Amino acid sequence: MLVIGLTGGIGSGKSTIADALAARGAGVIDTDVIARELTEPGQPALGEIAATFGADLIRSDGRLDRDALRALVFSDADARTRLEGILHPRIKDRMLERLAALDAPYAVLVIPLLFETNQHTLVDRVLVVDVPETVQRERVQRRSGLTHSEVDRIVASQISRAERLTRADDILDNSGDLPALLAQAERIHCSYIELAGNAKDRQIR
Ligand code: ADP
Repeated sequence: MLVIGLTGGIGSGKSTIADALAARGAGVIDTDVIARELTEPGQPALGEIAATFGADLIRSDGRLDRDALRALVFSDADARTRLEGILHPRIKDRMLERLAALDAPYAVLVIPLLFETNQHTLVDRVLVVDVPETVQRERVQRRSGLTHSEVDRIVASQISRAERLTRADDILDNSGDLPALLAQAERIHCSYIELAGNAKDRQIR
């Protein structure tokens, strides 16, 4: 199956594109969604996070205090590495399990840290959603209420916009409005359907 890796900085529009491609029939697997599932109450990863960073990261209702965890890992590089050690292997296993079970014309793996975690090696093409940093900050702050310095730290923890663009096979420009983005999603979807069809033809012959 043709496998696309969809990446971009925080707030660039990955989820918006992923939803648009899924609506057209792409098989979308979102690693942020998997990360949330893996840290639900009762999941082994949540127990490991509590054992590693302290039970006060678990709220009284048994759920992970995501704001506290984010504050911790973005102020302490070592804590971030340890958290990634708990989550990343599990996320990758579950993603590959779902990919193997997928029935769709092509797959889209949504991986925010695609290059940072070397997972570009798992995909046939890398699709980058790109926005200028000012637009990115404005959208993130509108969506999440993160402070300016929290956004700074998250952006600093990801590869630069320039490097991401250099390493992309395909780029969607999300500096415009939503209809402009959806029109690009439609075009790229058609090109992936064609690519997937060509790959299948070659296999049959
Ligand atoms: P990501 O998944 O990369 O973090 P999202 O798809 O969640 O980014 O987009 C970030 C925020 O910006 C969301 O609130 C989304 O609705 C909004 N957004 C995305 N694209 C546009 C656009 N072209 N115009 C206006 N708002 C947008």
